[in-house]
Amino acid sequence: MTSQLTLNELLERNKAVAAKHEPIPTFAELASMGAEPGHIVILTCADPRCNPHYFFDLKPNDGVIIFRNINGHVEPALNGILALDTWIGIHDIMIVHHTDCGALQWTDEQVKTTLKKWVPERSKEIDNISTFGAVTNIEQSIKDDLVILKSSPYIRKELADRSVGYVFDLKTGELTPVEG
Ligand SMILES: [Zn+2]
Repeated sequence: MTSQLTLNELLERNKAVAAKHEPIPTFAELASMGAEPGHIVILTCADPRCNPHYFFDLKPNDGVIIFRNINGHVEPALNGILALDTWIGIHDIMIVHHTDCGALQWTDEQVKTTLKKWVPERSKEIDNISTFGAVTNIEQSIKDDLVILKSSPYIRKELADRSVGYVFDLKTGELTPVEG
């Protein structure tokens, strides 16, 4: 989080990665091999400390699909999840929020106050925005997001029933289930 990396340094790293890169199969190639695209969706925080590739030791061919946004909320990701489910059929959704999440550190009201200073002519619209993702309790935020997911009229019942929530602990690396 305190990295001083620059974009140019990232691009340099990419050159090193590309030099040893092994081609990743296209959908057509996967189909010809009899393999299918991934069917597990993980919805988690954008925070680099909470990285499913790390805590599940994921590789590209594992086919696990990851959605990330502030805190790992359902609402900003829902349309994408629905699109995938209609296209490839999702088997499981795992919501993972994490300890010490940045979304605990600020409030939606603080975001609105700053935005209204930046674009005062839009103050009324800003006030009407329901949320910027702030939360006050991680277990509760998982429960709330499971409710949003399971109560969506577009989420299939089998998928809703197979949706689960976990807290990732930054200190222990462990995942603890949270009942929806
Ligand atoms: Zn977070």
